[in-house]
Formats: sequence, structure tokens, C-alpha cells
Amino acid sequence: MRDPMFTLTAGPTATWPRVQAAMSGPVVYDYDPVFLERFARTERKIAELYRTSGDVVLMQGEAVLGLEAAARALVRPGMTAINLVSGVYAKWFGIWLAEYGANLVEVEVPYDEHVDPALVRQALEDHPDAGLVAVVHSETPSGVLNPLKDIAAIVREHGALMVADVVSSLGGEDLDFDGWGLDLAVAGPQKCLAGPPGMSLCAVSDRAWEAIRGNPAAPRGSFLSLLDWKDRWIDGGRHAFPYTPSVVDVAGVEAACDVVLEMGVEASIAQHRLAARAVREGVVAMGLELWARNPAFATSCITAVRVPEGVDALGALAHIRERYGVMLSPGYGEIKEKLFRVGHQGPGAASLNPVVALAALGRGLADLGVAVRTGDGLEAALAVLSGAGTAVPA
Ligand SMILES: *Cc1c(COP(=O)(O)O)cnc(C)c1O
Repeated sequence: MRDPMFTLTAGPTATWPRVQAAMSGPVVYDYDPVFLERFARTERKIAELYRTSGDVVLMQGEAVLGLEAAARALVRPGMTAINLVSGVYAKWFGIWLAEYGANLVEVEVPYDEHVDPALVRQALEDHPDAGLVAVVHSETPSGVLNPLKDIAAIVREHGALMVADVVSSLGGEDLDFDGWGLDLAVAGPQKCLAGPPGMSLCAVSDRAWEAIRGNPAAPRGSFLSLLDWKDRWIDGGRHAFPYTPSVVDVAGVEAACDVVLEMGVEASIAQHRLAARAVREGVVAMGLELWARNPAFATSCITAVRVPEGVDALGALAHIRERYGVMLSPGYGEIKEKLFRVGHQGPGAASLNPVVALAALGRGLADLGVAVRTGDGLEAALAVLSGAGTAVPA
């Protein structure tokens, strides 16, 4: 089979040409001054995206590595940890918290709803000894956005550490690590930043470092160790890595940051929001149903669409890929076959790519006999995109 013409997925998503060009440069020695400088520069660019003046740790491994490292670093056996669950990734994070010895308190909502901050306040009142609260900002598998800023404000009042999976929100949603008082966040380059999959972009507050240092269970001398990065690389004057980073991935991540920073973080967020609105309105106008119950809490990185009754989700996606060369995503985990996910991240949020995704979904379902008003959906999406001036980045 040929490569797809369009990769409008939940991530990894299509990258910018500039990212691909950066990754085709020479493979240099990791202690070459060119690479040492690039690595430190990339950390600063990620910090700018996070809006933090604190430390950024770039771990070599897809974002799951960073999330697992965060759980390992912060959990002291016997501590109480509150996990806010509105989707598949949060559920998995809770499994790690429990596995590493936390007394796990889960606040769970249906996977098509967001976590109401009032539930967080209640959980902290019920468990005043809680040492950390964890949440997924943008639940990519279900398209739901949690109100991280409001949740973090409550957690700050209480004094627990705020841990956030921002894998799919960095660059696509409003995020202010220092301003909101976050302690440990993990992002991935392969979502809204449209970089290569393969790195974990972690931001760590001073409060979090203090907790990690004081935790005898935090890994040391391990691929999963955040502390090794702090001691060897950051505090060691940025001369020595704990292990060899992929020089190719780092070049791609830097280029991805450059695209967003040159466009402006605000403009990048606005572009993702506009694309998301166009797709949501298009989906509804087509006569399909959104998965997120409340559009005010729908994430900007993807739109999740309920699979119509009687339709084989995976078969429909395979048909769309084969006939039109457009790759879309199914759901994930236990909701894999209940929804279609249209990605609008990085280039997928630009130009008329949201319309391409809608055309593929609508026409593809119509081919299979589903009653869909594809044209109405495309008109609705175009109306949103045209109303806001240019959807193409400069
Ligand atoms: C993509 C993503 C991850 C990382 O998981 P992979 O499936 O391994 O890419 C974690 N959390 C969220 C919210 C994500 O979107």
C-alpha cells in the first residue's frame, strides 16, 4: 500500500516540512558542541512553550516514558495520591500510581465528560493527607479537555503536588506552567507540535524536585530517572547526558518548536481552536454526533465522533484510508470501536485540512450506506474557517 496523502490522526500526526528537513541533517556525536548547544536551546524553547522559568527535561522515549518516570519519581510508598480520571490515559496513570505503592484515590467521571473542579475540592477535603493530584489536561482518546487551570488552583491552595499529562495540549491549548502552579507536566512532540514521536518533554517545578530528592523510592541510575537528568545534565552544567539522546529526534523537536514559536504560541492555539470548531460544526451539520457531551470542554487537538449504530468503525476507517488515502483514527483502549477521531494538530489544523478530514469521513460513511449530509458538513466547516480570516500560517 502507498503512503497516505493525509495523516489527520490523533498522533503521531503529519509533521511540518521543516521538521522533516531538520531530521534529514547529519547524525552528529552527542558530545559535539553543535549538539550540546542544540539540546540546551531546545530545552529553552520547550520552556517557552510551557511558560516556565524552571527546568525542562527532555527524555529520550515517547511520552509514556515521561509519564511513567513522573509517577515513579513522585510516589512514596504509602502516600495518598488523587487521580482524576476522565479517560483512558488517566486510568493508566492510576495503575502506575498504585503499582508504585500509592494509596490511590480515584475520582472518575464518564469518558465523555470533564472533571468538575468541585469534585477535586471535595476529594481534597475527604483526603487531606493527599500528596499529589494527577490529571490529563487533554484526553486525546475521548476528545475531552479538563479545566486544568481551575483544578491546579484548588490543588495549590491545598499544598499537594499537581501532576498533569499535557501530551496533546502543549502548543494547542492554553497552558501556563508557572502561572497555574503546576509541578510536573509531560508533553509529547507528536501531537499539536507536529514533531517526531519519540521524546518526552517534561517540565518540573522546584517543589517537585524537592519532593523527588526526598523520595528514597525515586529511581536513580535508571532510564526512568528524572533525577539523573537533574544531577548529571542540568546541575552538572549541561556537559554530560545520563544516556545518549537521539540526535535526529532532537533536531526534529527543535524545528517543531520553531514553527510554533515563530507563528506565536497564541496564534498556534487559536489555529487549533478554529480547526476544532470547524470540525465540530461540520460533524454536527452532517448529522453525526460528537462524543464530548459539552462542546465547551472539547479539546482542540482532535474531535471524537460517535460511531453510528450498526457501523463497523475499523472497517469504515480502512475503507477511507484505501479509497481516499486519508488516515483518521479510531478510539483508543476500551472505547476503540465506539468512536472516530479526526485529528487537527499541527499542519492538520492549518489551511483546509479540517475540510479534507470531514470530506473523507462523510463521503466514506456514505459509501458504506450511512445517511450522512456530507455537503452540509463541509459548508458548515468552511463557514467557520472563512469567517476568521486566513487559516494558513505565515
Ligand atoms: C499520545 C498521548 C500519550 C502518549 O501515548 P502514546 O499512545 O504512546 O503516544 C499520553 N497521554 C495523552 C493524553 C496522549 O494524547
